[in-house]
Amino acid sequence: MTIENKVVVIAGASSGIGAATARLLASKGAKLVLGARREERLAEIASEIGGDNVIYQATDVTDKDQVKALIDLAVEKFGRLDVLYNNAGIMPREKLADAKFENWEKEININIMGVLHGIAAALPIMQEQNDGLIITTDSVAGHVVYPESAVYNGTKYAVRAIMEGLRQEERLHGIRSTIVSPGSVGTELMSTLDNPEMQAAMDEMFKHVSQEEMRMNVLDPEDIANAVAYVVDQPKHVSITDMIIRPTAQE
Ligand code: NDP
Repeated sequence: MTIENKVVVIAGASSGIGAATARLLASKGAKLVLGARREERLAEIASEIGGDNVIYQATDVTDKDQVKALIDLAVEKFGRLDVLYNNAGIMPREKLADAKFENWEKEININIMGVLHGIAAALPIMQEQNDGLIITTDSVAGHVVYPESAVYNGTKYAVRAIMEGLRQEERLHGIRSTIVSPGSVGTELMSTLDNPEMQAAMDEMFKHVSQEEMRMNVLDPEDIANAVAYVVDQPKHVSITDMIIRPTAQE
């Protein structure tokens, strides 16, 4: 089996990388179950894809029961679960001295607990199948620490450790674990920035950047979708553990 007919759950499918991946995998014949909080956005993507091979359900990844319900839906509707793609994430970014407890809690709950909720719900099904692939969107920020980004970095480093632990624990069950680590991608993630100074500095910087420079510094969501599709397309004996994808000019 390549991508065609594989049953793929995408958590965080309503915009950006998740939505682009849904469109690409659908075009290659995958059966999709899409989750995120913004149900109307999921409905738009599902109707654009069309046909019986895509369903969606409003899901908040911070709620373990909602994540389990999303994953169970794949088995109910399509009979199995080949791939779980944990893609939901936010990036508020702030200095530690700002002590933004609310942001820290949200980041940790979405970026780390959301991934753990997905793993917990998918593993019993995948162990029973003796087959399965769990992909998580990590980040270059899970490999390199940036200023004013300690907590976001911390969540992405944690995800890298969790996914490697998953690989070690489950490799003999035929379950593969992959992180895809993008550099800068042009998506709605910036709207989750809760840092007016940083937002203003970035807006100012982008005003002076030519289209050509932008092209070399910012990826499209489709560039990451291509990487995810490559991972999904591999046969069972091939385990891709980490793909780092930077725009060419990124440090
Ligand atoms: P978007 O903001 O476009 O997408 C984020 C997705 O996560 C949306 O579908 C959003 O859906 C979902 N999401 C956020 N919170 C929750 C929640 N509580 N429950 C369910 N879904 C949630 O940004 P990107 O496409 O850029 O982000 C996707 C992933 O890529 C994130 O994990 C991000 O950290 C990572 N990444 C992004 C980079 C970039 O430069 N853009 C670089 C490196 C990594 P909704 O709001 O409808 O719930």
